[in-house]
Amino acid sequence: MRLSRFLLPVLKETPADAQIVSHRLMLRAGLIRQEAAGIYAWLPLGLKVLRKIEQIVREEQNRAGAIEILMPTLQPADLWRESGRYDAYGKEMLRITDRHKRDLLYGPTNEEMVTAIFRNYCKSYKDLPKNLYHIQWKFRDEIRPRFGVMRGREFLMKDAYSFDLDEASARAAYNRMFIAYLNTFARMGLKAVPMRADTGPIGGDLSHEFIILAETGESEVFCDSQLIDMGAPGPEVDFDGDLQPLVDQRTALYAATEEMHDAARFEAETPADRRLSARGIEVGHIFYFGTKYSAPMKAHVTHPDGQDRPVHMGSYGVGVSRLMGAIIEAHHDDNGIIWPEAVAPFGAGIINLKAGDPDTDAACAQAYEALSLAGLEPLLDDTPERPGAKFATMDLIGLPWQLVIGPRGIKEGKVELKRRATAEREELSLADAVARII
Ligand code: ATP
Ligand code: MG
Ligand code: MG
Ligand code: MG
Repeated sequence: MRLSRFLLPVLKETPADAQIVSHRLMLRAGLIRQEAAGIYAWLPLGLKVLRKIEQIVREEQNRAGAIEILMPTLQPADLWRESGRYDAYGKEMLRITDRHKRDLLYGPTNEEMVTAIFRNYCKSYKDLPKNLYHIQWKFRDEIRPRFGVMRGREFLMKDAYSFDLDEASARAAYNRMFIAYLNTFARMGLKAVPMRADTGPIGGDLSHEFIILAETGESEVFCDSQLIDMGAPGPEVDFDGDLQPLVDQRTALYAATEEMHDAARFEAETPADRRLSARGIEVGHIFYFGTKYSAPMKAHVTHPDGQDRPVHMGSYGVGVSRLMGAIIEAHHDDNGIIWPEAVAPFGAGIINLKAGDPDTDAACAQAYEALSLAGLEPLLDDTPERPGAKFATMDLIGLPWQLVIGPRGIKEGKVELKRRATAEREELSLADAVARII
């Protein structure tokens, strides 16, 4: 992409109403634009990152055996009357009436709809297990939308729903998502800690939140500090095998959100120097809730003994759009964002220090082509801006590599390569610089 043809509305001033660094940087780097309280348009650079985050989530869901579907954003209220949640959900639900006076709602979550889909097609133990997920916009009329996409009203969520014959197999399904989540967040350069969590209005008795520690996080959390650097199991995990030992490794150490915190237990189980009380961002939340929806909604399956019983369910959410804020909270410096390579909107930036100078333009075109051929979509700053402004913009938008090309260097056969994360600079031939990046 050539910057002269792109839409990158960077802001020089710090937006006054943005309270946390990720929100400020998302506005300054031209990733999002607020359209209404808690409702954002995704600008070109922001959309590229969002799609990359979404794709990592998708790949890890698929690897764990979940099947992608796409349910609508609007849902009939009658479905929610079946489960009893239409009245119980409260003011966070956006209720809509159509021209025929039918009650609809903009989905804040999808347990009811997916249960209706399941019960329509799956009726026997032979159809199990199943895990259906989608990545779709949700709406929750948050009382205090804030911190940009961290607490939006409209936000992108991945939500998966597992269906099993009994509690034991439902727990195996839960474990698959537990491990998939660890791998998902690790691929985005995040250290997510699973913590025992309250089940809230979703219901049920087994639940973990996945928390990224950050001073600006809205949740208060308590955990054994050894969990933070424990790392993810990685893609070689056998999702058909027994994952309980891997889960136990993470759940044996103390980790709980405020609602589940037990100070006496924390002190008894965790040595003083490892007792961490901190703030965190909830990027994912998994639940096992048994037959809470399948019983009232009559999602029954026939067991091998010929009896029909309600299916055992779990649900598994990831805050896809919130993750962008969490990644920035974890990866930035005073100059701007530092994207982990896996989610960077472009693989590298090329800075043309003298646009219009034939030799410089030619060298930039050569670098552009080489990087494009290697599949590392580059962003070429070919604008007539002065160098200082170009450097500042490139640092702000946080691409992993910067290739700086100007007439003086070209005379000596050199370009400058800068690594955004470390600010290390090197003078190299163009060919060596390209080879270093790819
Ligand atoms: P929170 O405690 O932050 O209000 P929640 O517990 O209500 O979140 P869940 O119902 O568990 O949210 O939804 C699954 C995931 O969706 C959350 O873990 C979070 O990452 C994301 N999420 C929830 N609400 C929002 C929101 N208003 N804006 C952005 N992401 C959200
Ligand atoms: Mg909430
Ligand atoms: Mg929560
Ligand atoms: Mg939650």
